[in-house]
Amino acid sequence: MEKERQLLVVFPHPDDEAFGVSGTIATHVQNGTPVTYACLTLGEMGRNMGNPLFTNRENLPKIRKEELKEAARVLGIQDLRMLGFRDKTIEFEDDDKLTNVMSALIEELNPSLIITFYPGYSVHPDHDATGAAVVRAVEKLPAAARPKLHCVAFSNNCVEELGEPDIINNISPVTETKLAAIQAHRSQTEQMFIGMEEKLKNQDPQVMMWINNERFWTYKFAH
Ligand SMILES: [Zn+2]
Repeated sequence: MEKERQLLVVFPHPDDEAFGVSGTIATHVQNGTPVTYACLTLGEMGRNMGNPLFTNRENLPKIRKEELKEAARVLGIQDLRMLGFRDKTIEFEDDDKLTNVMSALIEELNPSLIITFYPGYSVHPDHDATGAAVVRAVEKLPAAARPKLHCVAFSNNCVEELGEPDIINNISPVTETKLAAIQAHRSQTEQMFIGMEEKLKNQDPQVMMWINNERFWTYKFAH
């Protein structure tokens, strides 16, 4: 991975950073790159309350906030911004308001690389709306002044329509850190880990391939 001046990661939900990107984040942190993670919501509308239940609707935002802080700590993210938007409402936010939030972050941090979701290819409306806002903010900059924009996509049609991802980061040196970051989001991931424990222990090739390779598409601006 190239050394960056500053990495800005923008996702709507706590745990969005954990699965597809946390190895890349941990590697940049190890390289000494300042990393800011701007997380739009606290995922307070999530259906998972732990199994067995260990929280309720009222306490879920508090729990997920603590989980997010713990994941950031595990990854070594120095600058975690919780932007205070409401879960499951990002697509209904005013476009200009969202764009301005992203523009302000870009202006303040001057990132050389931004990581977000690929709008239209990220399954959840909050994901697509977040990626779209970042794209609009970057698009406003003159082409030569734009940071690199690496997008995560995982809709069924993403490879068919976008082609193969142009960036695949092998993050195997930091697999343990990545797994710890995923586990930090206990309310969301505990069950999944129970199912995966054996496979992780046996280094199941398919699971390790999924864990160790983080895929990104460089966003292609129309102009
Ligand atoms: Zn999400």
